[in-house]
Amino acid sequence: AKALGKGRYAIFDREMYDRTLHLSQLEIDLRYALERQEFLLHYQPIISVATGRLTGFEALLRWQHPKMGLIDPGDFIEIAEETGLIVPIGEWILQEACQQLYIWQQKFATTSLYISVNLSSKQIQQFDLVDKLAKILDRTGLNGKNLKLELTETMLMDRGEKTIELLFQIKEQNIQLSIDDFGTGYSSLSYLHRFPIDALKIDRSFVSPIDAEGKNCEIVRTIITLAHTLGIKAIAEGVETSHQLAVLKKLGCDEAQGYFFGTPVNFQLAEEILVKNV
Ligand code: C2E
Ligand code: CA
Ligand code: CA
Ligand code: CA
Repeated sequence: AKALGKGRYAIFDREMYDRTLHLSQLEIDLRYALERQEFLLHYQPIISVATGRLTGFEALLRWQHPKMGLIDPGDFIEIAEETGLIVPIGEWILQEACQQLYIWQQKFATTSLYISVNLSSKQIQQFDLVDKLAKILDRTGLNGKNLKLELTETMLMDRGEKTIELLFQIKEQNIQLSIDDFGTGYSSLSYLHRFPIDALKIDRSFVSPIDAEGKNCEIVRTIITLAHTLGIKAIAEGVETSHQLAVLKKLGCDEAQGYFFGTPVNFQLAEEILVKNV
């Protein structure tokens, strides 16, 4: 770094300083975001590949920052996890998502749609998660079968038997479970069948390369086969083209999600999508 000379060094320091300042300001803001009600959920449609009909929504967190505008989770989820703030925020997310779906169920007399909610590893480490889930279902009136929790492979594999036990307790409330970003983490196949999982979500990195020649779909094919061998569903993420959808259909993929069907949108726009599907 010294080779850069004194001047460059000073500039670098200044950048570091600004960046640190910026980050800690975001962290400070994050601490107040819940009580200031700056969080909201966006909803992305998930559809049945066979029928093209809506099966559910994934709830995705957004932060309406007073100065920076609407921020995606990529920019703050890590801070939320490091600071532990993800625990109370995650509880709000669950409450909000369940409440919203219950409202839609009442309004449109639909009972089959589900809401899929991402869980953080910090949340599944909380001893009272099962309790909290029960309370949220109770408070909102939502049936557990309409709630789906998305966990990553790493979260599942990290703590072995303890996690299996936890998942069975969650399943007692009829809540569905899916593995998010499947294929990007480390899953032990000999372990997988012991988890009471309902679906594998095929990561976008395997769906994107499905090209016009129909090659590059071997991993997707393998994950779909694996899911069906386990007796569960395969859900493709990041579907952006009709061609990808056609290939997924041919491969027997059950559900799909991605910009081709719709980007994540606020609850008003999500409701418009829902109305067309009931
Ligand atoms: P994820 O769970 O894998 O969510 C899917 C992400 O891919 C979303 O980004 C979504 O907007 C984006 N996406 C969906 N379809 C497409 C597509 O066709 N093409 C492309 N290029 N992207 C697509 P988002 O909303 O920015 O979320 C990023 C990540 O932040 C999520 O990845 C998830 O890991 C995390 N996250 C989001 N909401 C929550 C939450 O409520 N709680 C927790 N713990 N994590 C969350
Ligand atoms: Ca997800
Ligand atoms: Ca995902
Ligand atoms: Ca992801």
